[in-house]
This record gives sequence, structure tokens and C-alpha cells, in this order.
Amino acid sequence: MQRYFAKLIDSEHIKFEPEDEHHILHVMRMKVGDEIEVVADGTLYLCAIKSTNPLCVYTIHEIASDVELNVDVTLLFALTKGDRTDLVVQKATELGVKKIALIQSERTVVRYEEKDIAKKCARYQKIMKEASEQSHRLVVPELLGIFNLKKLPHEVFSDLNYVGYEKDANDVNGMFANFDKNKSITILIGPEGGFSEEEINALVKQGFIRTSLGKRILRAETAAIYALSVIGYLLER
Ligand code: SAM
Repeated sequence: MQRYFAKLIDSEHIKFEPEDEHHILHVMRMKVGDEIEVVADGTLYLCAIKSTNPLCVYTIHEIASDVELNVDVTLLFALTKGDRTDLVVQKATELGVKKIALIQSERTVVRYEEKDIAKKCARYQKIMKEASEQSHRLVVPELLGIFNLKKLPHEVFSDLNYVGYEKDANDVNGMFANFDKNKSITILIGPEGGFSEEEINALVKQGFIRTSLGKRILRAETAAIYALSVIGYLLER
């Protein structure tokens, strides 16, 4: 069944994004009586179409759903070349993150012009919305923005803050040390060239815990997906 994120004004009035209204009427060609799922403010509803011109949808009943991770997980991902950031933003959404921030560090090759940042962020947010719909989530993760590693805003930090550090690769027993299922988590992944010693030392001083992500050196996008998979397993097992 098709699922859409929308604003619930009341049980008889639901406001869709224009592109979703277009999808319902002209892509899926839905008719009066057809049923869809709508997520509004973190609640899932079974709904039906009352009219198509204009589109009017009403709620039938709430549907119980507990697909979200029990703590907030934040991914800090250093910008990487090509469409790998698109891939990571999409997979991180499927894997349950609540917030994503993109990071520019000493060795990030990708540099966004100030004038392009808003458009880039809007594009990533669209990827996250579509991935949330596809993975039947109850929330769309929030893209906090693009930040310099040396100026991380307080909202990127959690109760536990980990940084994947490939020089600790062999310390697999120390992976995600002090993990606690009831504490919010931030995981930071570096760019193709990794973090410099200075960057790692500064991150540790800010309370980041260095962690191995296994004995092999992973591409940045693989490391992000691996880290979020392990965190999801540790939270949901
Ligand atoms: N400079 C590294 C090298 O030796 O080629 C490559 C960095 S890797 C492509 C990009 C990021 O993925 C790293 O900054 C780190 O955050 C993470 N990463 C990759 N493999 C890892 C591992 N085995 N343990 C911890 N972090 C890892």
C-alpha cells in the first residue's frame, strides 16, 4: 500500500505536499474509495480517498507501528565524491537514523559553494523523505546541515559520541565501547582520506570515543552503512 508523509489538520482534512498529491492522482491514478497509508506527526493512519477533484482524504483508523529505533541515532558523514553521499543519506534513513549532518574536514575533497548549500540540502532531504516512505518509517530524519569539523554545533552531539577511526581497526573487541541501549548515539565517519591525527585528537578532547568498524579498511560509504547496521543490531537484538 502506498504511504505518504502529510499534515493532519483533522480526520477529514489531510494536507499533502504537491508532489505527493500529483503522485496520488496522476501516477497512481487513485480513485474515490482507494486506501492509502498516511504518516502525520509520527503516527500512522489508514486513510481513504473521499474525492479526487480536489483531492480529499480522510482517516479510517490509526495503525500501531513501532519501527523506530528506541534511541536517537545521529550520523555525521564527511562529504565524499560522486553520488556516494546520496547513497549514504538514503541507507542511513533506511537504517533508522534520526538526524544527519554532513561534514567538511581537512581531507574532504568535495567543497560546496555557500550559494549551493541550500539546494544540496533540499535534495538530500528529498532523498530522506522518499527513503522514509519506502522503509515504512514514522519519521523523516532531519538534515541538520553541512558543518566544518572544527565547528560542530551542539545539536550534533549525543549521550555517546563515536568516531570511526581506521587506525583502531584491529581493536574489534573495543568496538562501540561503553555502548548503552538507553543512550542516544552519534557516529562520525571520515572522508576518503580519513582524519588527520590532529583532527582525531581534537575529537577525543570533545568527548568522541574512537571505534573500530572491523579489521578491514572500508570505503567511507561502506563504513557509514556498517556502523549504522551494527548500532541497529545492538539496539534491537
Ligand atoms: N585513510 C584511510 C586509509 O587508510 O585508506 C581511509 C579512510 S576510510 C576510506 C574513510 C572513513 O571510514 C574513515 O575516516 C573512518 O571513519 C571509516 N573507517 C573505514 N574503515 C574503518 C575501520 N576498519 N575502522 C574504523 N573506521 C573505519
